[in-house]
Amino acid sequence: MQLYNTLSAEERAQLIDEAGKQRLTLSFYAYAKIPNPKQFRDELFIAWNALDALGRIYVAHEGINAQMSIPEENLAAFRETLEVYDFMKGIRLNEAVEHDDHSFLKLTIKVRHKIVADGLNDETFDVTNKGIHLKAKEFNSLLEDPNTIVVDFRNHYESEVGHFEGAITPDVETFRESLPIINEKLQDFKEDKNLLMYCTGGIRCEKASAYFKHQGFKNVYQLEGGIIEYTRQIKEENIESKFIGKNFVFDHRLGERITEDIVSQCHQCGKPCDNHTNCANEGCHLLFIQCDECKAAMENCCSAECQDIIHLPLAEQIKLRKGVQVGNKIFRKGKSEALKFKKSGELPKKALAKAEKNIRQKISIKKVLLGKAEHYYTKSKIAQFLLENGEINIGDKVLISGPTTGEQKFNITEIFANGEACETAKAGDQITFPVPFRVRLSDKLFKILS
Ligand SMILES: [Zn+2]
Ligand SMILES: [Zn+2]
Repeated sequence: MQLYNTLSAEERAQLIDEAGKQRLTLSFYAYAKIPNPKQFRDELFIAWNALDALGRIYVAHEGINAQMSIPEENLAAFRETLEVYDFMKGIRLNEAVEHDDHSFLKLTIKVRHKIVADGLNDETFDVTNKGIHLKAKEFNSLLEDPNTIVVDFRNHYESEVGHFEGAITPDVETFRESLPIINEKLQDFKEDKNLLMYCTGGIRCEKASAYFKHQGFKNVYQLEGGIIEYTRQIKEENIESKFIGKNFVFDHRLGERITEDIVSQCHQCGKPCDNHTNCANEGCHLLFIQCDECKAAMENCCSAECQDIIHLPLAEQIKLRKGVQVGNKIFRKGKSEALKFKKSGELPKKALAKAEKNIRQKISIKKVLLGKAEHYYTKSKIAQFLLENGEINIGDKVLISGPTTGEQKFNITEIFANGEACETAKAGDQITFPVPFRVRLSDKLFKILS
């Protein structure tokens, strides 16, 4: 029985591309009492590995916290694997706004002491006595109430690139640190102000709200499903976004754009920028914000020192790393003397700049695999494919991709299915159509969806 990953990230990326299936990025969490987390973990791995699910999941005695990507067609089957457990019956799955087929390249399920490293002494308060859950619309209207204080319960590197207008963004590195700071700061408002809280997916507020109620706050509210669910609702219901900038997420994209506003600066030159990166020096790996110009000039490094190091032979670099404690720097996430424009705590209320429109287009295109090449007629520049999946119409935008062909996009102007000219061809048809380049037998045909 396979209980762990056997593929490398590269192999997985290639498999995902070849499968050509639409994937969904989703997250969910649940507090529960799990007697045997190790056994629970293994059950999930077996069920999810069979569904081609990928992601980073933490399980503990206190519950589960998951960020995942699954093939869209397996969503129903995936839900069934959750319904098996009483505490996950009817659970809400937060879907990310942008779906990137390469969000996760492994299925990693870890047994931890807690599902969120909140550092809280849970026994001192009742974690089930939580705040009132709000939907996007309700959250927006409470934000407009002058009697409301809104607090961001994420870390400084998260709130820096995007936050709700007017939010208090504690300059902290851990969730645990933020609680007493805010408790102190809001000491005089416990009785009469609305305490409105939010985080990425709602999980941190679940406990924070219970903590603040225990501390004597009377009106405690939390954004249900966090920024992720808020974003989904504002898009679906066409509500104005009061969240500005980017939502920081822990996959390789390091953030999804919610509005065109850029609220942060390049940590090196101060220009408006909200692209996080990790320092190219493996011995440093600092998470910081860097603009394209600085990236080019600094070769993706956080400092001149790191830039020197990446030009050393690898053996020497490894020697340098020995005995050096970089862990501290990594977890400080962007706090380094070398970064002149790193700010946290007080963040600008208004956007510093607008993102260029093409940022959204950089997101990898959504496509669905139609079939494989069977033949190519040199003289007439016609390709023959076997349509294995879906359908193809005149006017469709398609992508032909293969190791030698590369990625070629064009519009279908004519189709012949099984030798007859037609408007639409269906799965099972052998189709030919004109192509503006040479097709190879290993090439695959995809329909571009958006
Ligand atoms: Zn810069
Ligand atoms: Zn560095």
